[in-house]
Amino acid sequence: MEKVIFHIDVNSAYLSWEAVYRLREQGGSVDLREIPCAVGGDKSKRHGIILAKSLAAKACGVRTGEPLTEALKKCPGLTVVPAHHSLYRQYSKKFMDILREYTPDVQQYSIDEAFMDMSGMEKIIGDPVAFAHKLKNRISRELGFTVNIGISSNKYLAKMASDFEKPDKVHTLFPEEIPTKMWPLPVSDLIFVGRSTQEALHKLGIYTIGQLAGTDVEILRHHLKKQGETIWEFANGRDSSLVEPVPEGNKMYGNSTTVAFDITDEDTARMVLLSLSETVASRLRKDGQKAQMVSVSIRNTDMKTVSHQKVMPAATDITEEIYEAACQLFEELWDQSPIRLLGVQTGKLSSESQGRQMSLFDNTDYEKMERMDQAVDKIRKKYGKNAIMRASFLDNKKVDHMTGGHPDGGQVNLKTLKERKK
Ligand SMILES: [Mg+2]
Repeated sequence: MEKVIFHIDVNSAYLSWEAVYRLREQGGSVDLREIPCAVGGDKSKRHGIILAKSLAAKACGVRTGEPLTEALKKCPGLTVVPAHHSLYRQYSKKFMDILREYTPDVQQYSIDEAFMDMSGMEKIIGDPVAFAHKLKNRISRELGFTVNIGISSNKYLAKMASDFEKPDKVHTLFPEEIPTKMWPLPVSDLIFVGRSTQEALHKLGIYTIGQLAGTDVEILRHHLKKQGETIWEFANGRDSSLVEPVPEGNKMYGNSTTVAFDITDEDTARMVLLSLSETVASRLRKDGQKAQMVSVSIRNTDMKTVSHQKVMPAATDITEEIYEAACQLFEELWDQSPIRLLGVQTGKLSSESQGRQMSLFDNTDYEKMERMDQAVDKIRKKYGKNAIMRASFLDNKKVDHMTGGHPDGGQVNLKTLKERKK
């Protein structure tokens, strides 16, 4: 039976939430969504970057991710408000709480986006499209901000659909609608296609998603490696990943880091992934948990975030294993655009050891790896986290060997390039 997946996305989340806070909580009379306005940075100090913008600011040419100084040149009358991340977390929670009233199968994808698996619920909700309109209107009435809802039979298509015309809209993109609704769009509209992939595809004469879908996958693999195959699957509407709900109250073991410089090479990215895997895995071990799902998120300099997940053959708390999975996901996902943020998350947790399914093709000595991790944890507990580190970090002064340590993402632990040169 075909699945029914919703992707719900808050329209200009940070800006909407700032607007709602001022109108509803502070009794303000100006709706920031209706004037040229942006969230991010500090206007008096003229630094920082644009995190979100109103439609009026967009009409002036203001872009998300660009420096504030650039935005002010294009739009001198721009109202700039600083970001209030704790406020956004509160609105995000209220938003997710409403979704969870309808099904436990809610997967939070980012602070302002979630997937819902609504399969087999017609008896309760009726027609999914009519229900989506009700849901969207309820959020707007109760919480004061608007969302877009995309509906399809898999997550990728649902996410594509929610990105169609905004704001306050419901769109469908079922497999039979792919040729008319998705294939005529430019390749840059595909979620995993950034600027450099777009350029590579243009060189191959591929301009639309339909042209990409019809290209021999071998050609794409040759030019774009694993990522070529990933985007070809998506262009054909294929995505087998499931909605992975995180029950409320369940701890998420994840970590991300915003970098002080843009990461442009794979080696540095791998170092950061190792450092993040190290902190995530050590927290799992400390709490006696194992994870079967690993996901990686990448945010580029346009502030676009993509993430990708995989389910492992067995639950694990081994640093090396989580790191290997993270690298594989990274390879499938990264399109060479400069990176601002990297994250490693784990889910599908279990505290009981289920035992591993032995495989003829896998000679890895997992017990030995587990013993090594335990030994490392003991040494760090006794002598501090820097008492022992992987050899690959010894010559690298750019990346801290254990990044972050906070579930919401750590502080910047990467040393600046200037420090590196010292
Ligand atoms: Mg959004």
